[in-house]
Amino acid sequence: MADGLNMNRQLLVSTLINYAGRNHGATEIISTDSSGNTFRSNWSLIAERSQRLSSALASEGVKQGDRVGTIAWNDYRHLEAYYGICGMGAVLHTINPRLHDSQIAYIINHAEDQVVLIDPDFLEVAERIAHLVPSVRLWVVLGDEAPKSSVAVKYVCYETWIDEKREVLIWPELDEWAAATLCYTSGTTGNPKGVSQSHRAIVLQSWATCTGDGHNVNSGQSILLAVPMFHVNGWAIPFAAAMAGAKLVLPGANLDAGALVEHIRSEEVTFSAGVPTIWLSVVQYLERTGRDVPSLKQIAVGGSAAPSSLIDILEDKYGVSVSHVWGMTEMTQGSAGRFTHRVERLEREEQRKRQSMAGREIYGVELSLIDSEGQEVDRDGQTPGELLARGPWVAGSYFRHDDDSTHLESGDGSWLRTGDVATINDEGYITIVDRAKDVIKSGGEWISSIDLENAAIAAPSVTEAAVIGLPHDRWGERPLLLVVLHNEAELSQEEILDVMKPQVPSWWLPNDIVAIDQIPHTGTGKIDKKVLRTQFADHSWSAAI
Ligand code: AMP
Repeated sequence: MADGLNMNRQLLVSTLINYAGRNHGATEIISTDSSGNTFRSNWSLIAERSQRLSSALASEGVKQGDRVGTIAWNDYRHLEAYYGICGMGAVLHTINPRLHDSQIAYIINHAEDQVVLIDPDFLEVAERIAHLVPSVRLWVVLGDEAPKSSVAVKYVCYETWIDEKREVLIWPELDEWAAATLCYTSGTTGNPKGVSQSHRAIVLQSWATCTGDGHNVNSGQSILLAVPMFHVNGWAIPFAAAMAGAKLVLPGANLDAGALVEHIRSEEVTFSAGVPTIWLSVVQYLERTGRDVPSLKQIAVGGSAAPSSLIDILEDKYGVSVSHVWGMTEMTQGSAGRFTHRVERLEREEQRKRQSMAGREIYGVELSLIDSEGQEVDRDGQTPGELLARGPWVAGSYFRHDDDSTHLESGDGSWLRTGDVATINDEGYITIVDRAKDVIKSGGEWISSIDLENAAIAAPSVTEAAVIGLPHDRWGERPLLLVVLHNEAELSQEEILDVMKPQVPSWWLPNDIVAIDQIPHTGTGKIDKKVLRTQFADHSWSAAI
């Protein structure tokens, strides 16, 4: 007998919402809009309304495989868009509203979006770029009303549009390999690249997200989605939540620490996910106000390196178990942060060491390291190499992008070149040394800007730190540390260096420390080192420490 005898059922996004609507219909989806109003929906309503959205899209001529853009916050209408667009076989293209107009226009044109669903908060973007994006024939305003259409921009109001009497579209039995989503990388070098996930990949990665070693998304959780739904499909959590039938809290535009803590307390949130900056601000808020978050049992933090001091205070003072993970647009979650049975029983200090790393290899995303000659590097936790990844939900290529340097063909198949420099230890834990382009090369050796930032942030006067490499006559490149200080603090290089010294090799210590008012961030909350490098291009080492 050659094949197994299972049924041939396709892994489709529509099966997730169908399941949630049928079995967890009353489980709530809570959203807050830009005026601070709360709307309580549930999986049954989301399922029904997303089907009506599909029907409206079909009547507009949107066909299977066509791309439909969203420029929206985390709210229930965006969630309906996730399912309504994918359900009918169109491709959900989430667009980051924090990008520059020219980048938004670039990716809409590259994706050839036919229709864009847009939050009223971003109508000015539509007004500014509509003439640059000829493929978009309709802008659907995600609200109760829409502005009058002009020659340049044709608007309809989402609520009226999906309400018009139409037959509910029965979602087609698609091929599971069909594209479901399209998400562009941040594009910190060159133009953003499009990552397209198939229905199959979305269902598989959602399953991984629901496992205990993933994010443990299950029907017992109330989840606050503090990751924008335009960033890596909200780390697949909007899909995993339907697979599990979990309660979902969507905070809308306001990601201030006070608002997030309010959501956690009022909706008895048990799990949340977000980038380190979000959790740093939440911890600062809790410390300042003396409030706590008793329902919150577990968070996932990733997207950039989480400082150990942040993890420690969340674990030790607020009783939140922290899963520090690594991932990227090209695969969503790429590592597991949960302690194994053995590590769970180790001294806290041993656990801390592991938590400061970026998680360990998770089933489904195979990792490997290579040196500059393309030879495999040992998993000794010491020797850095370029991190490669492959697996059923890792991008095999980019959308309409011919450059083959993004992947490596080896004797045993194709690997994605992640652009990260990392080490892997014998337990499978990865440590992200740096982005290949951010690592500082001093006297032929590498200095990790991430480690220096983490060391600096442990200084009591420092709220945020960024390290960039600048040219140096003797060493080639040396680190410059830029810090944002607490309100009343004055810059003391000595104080900061004293805190850093026990944490990093002495030759890594920055040659200069400069206080700045704020650190620029990219649209996805990462430190924008490109901007800092330009800003400090003329920095002189003459006053160096
Ligand atoms: P993005 O595609 O915008 O999510 O960016 C992915 C990149 O973020 C990765 O290639 C890493 O450089 C970085 N990143 C993600 N998670 C971590 C982490 N836990 N520690 C350090 N860097 C991370």
